[in-house]
Amino acid sequence: MTQHLLAIDQGTTSSRSIIFADDGSIVAMSQEEFSQHYPHDGWVEHKPDDIWSSVVNTLKNVFEKCDVSVEDIATLGITNQRETTIVWDRHTGEEVYPAIVWQDRRTAQMCSELSADSELVEYITNTTGLLLDPYFSATKISWILDNVEGARTRAEAGDLLFGTVDTFLIWRLTDKASHKTDATNASRTMLFNIHNQQWDTRLLKTFSIPPAMLPEVMDCAADFGHVSADLLGKRIPINGVAGDQQAALVGQACFEKGMAKSTYGTGCFMILNTGDTPLISKNRLLTTVGYRLNGKVTYALEGSIFMAGATIQWLRDGLKLIDNAFESEALAKRAREDNGVFMVPAFTGLGAPYWDPNARGAILGLTRDTGISEIVAAGLQSVCYQTKDLQKAMESDGARLVSLRVDGGMAKNDWVMGFLSDILGAEVKRPTVTETTAVGAAFLAGLQCGIFTELATLTHCWQCDKVFTPRLNKAQRNTAYDGWKAAVARIRCS
Ligand code: ADP
Repeated sequence: MTQHLLAIDQGTTSSRSIIFADDGSIVAMSQEEFSQHYPHDGWVEHKPDDIWSSVVNTLKNVFEKCDVSVEDIATLGITNQRETTIVWDRHTGEEVYPAIVWQDRRTAQMCSELSADSELVEYITNTTGLLLDPYFSATKISWILDNVEGARTRAEAGDLLFGTVDTFLIWRLTDKASHKTDATNASRTMLFNIHNQQWDTRLLKTFSIPPAMLPEVMDCAADFGHVSADLLGKRIPINGVAGDQQAALVGQACFEKGMAKSTYGTGCFMILNTGDTPLISKNRLLTTVGYRLNGKVTYALEGSIFMAGATIQWLRDGLKLIDNAFESEALAKRAREDNGVFMVPAFTGLGAPYWDPNARGAILGLTRDTGISEIVAAGLQSVCYQTKDLQKAMESDGARLVSLRVDGGMAKNDWVMGFLSDILGAEVKRPTVTETTAVGAAFLAGLQCGIFTELATLTHCWQCDKVFTPRLNKAQRNTAYDGWKAAVARIRCS
């Protein structure tokens, strides 16, 4: 009997189930979208039952798309949207409130009040590696306990459980038997000490969260319980769990210090492996658990770009310069070289390392011979320059980028990836299998159940589709990057 691996990739807008062969190749995939709810300005919610049914449907459908049977599945891995917060009743399983999604800003006021205490702000960064921000789970849990009638009393009586989406799924998949998370998901709650790998007592007090609500924190490859036989007809062990960006780090086999992965979707998330050192950033980057195996933590620095593929969407929908994202590549190839046009897509302000929320976007350096090609090229290049900004910020925090592996929709664009390599002065590699988050979850599960014996096996499974090597020399690279920095300087407000 051949052994196969099953992965659940529970994302922000859809859930996917994927079956992998034991060489890491994809056998079949099933995907289902679910509804987003925006009850007030800045609020984003999901119904936990929608998340659950989309996962169950895809788990069942994926077997209809291939010859693999449930009997052939040796193990299950889970990767998930991070930080999204669910609180439910441990007896009935009913949620006390919808899932509060990572994008939700309802606790901005709470965070701004707490930030008056500079000692607390510093403590949070030094302990959790994060910034005091509504993005993370802690203030979302507080909000539910403070705003849902009776919730705090029930939580204090031990009747309520908290989980990020991984935990919620594990609890339901195991028919209430297992209340567990992994160290990467725990590291995004703003309640977890990333140094001693424990829930932090002081932060639990600060956010008034009863410790009994919290899940047990496991390695990423561990025994998370078994999928109940009622669901798929077989008890399948859940052996791998990681938050989406960390799962992609694993799926991209970035196991050496200095290796990084960047995912170019609507936004971009870049994670750099910093080995056993948790570097606390001076540039407001996040320090996070990259993965934890056999009790050993590998840390990572994480930076994000608000506008990556979204810039291309704006070229398409806002300016109507292109009909689809794919067209951008051919147009950019036609642009005059060194045309001096820069686009700074600060539509919602500038992120790392500038942190200027009031800055707004601009296209600079226009001349009479600037055409559509040059503007589209400048939009694509802006994503590369922003990645360079993150690379610089990481360097100034003491972490050197050695090589970058890419995925996400925009990574399909060879012209962009070539320019990215030029401007970073580093090799950029794109894998053949770009479902890297699901690959990561399957890898972790395979490690635990013995299909893979060590990380080196996973390194060999990772297959390169294309390598982009820098074509610019240092002087040319610096001239181009100086042009970008001058453009950014023109639009800064602070
Ligand atoms: P998400 O997961 O955030 O929805 P995806 O990984 O599916 O994103 O990537 C979609 C994004 O990638 C879109 O914003 C789109 O504009 C961009 N994109 C897709 N293909 C290309 C391409 N060939 N060139 C440039 N951008 C692209």
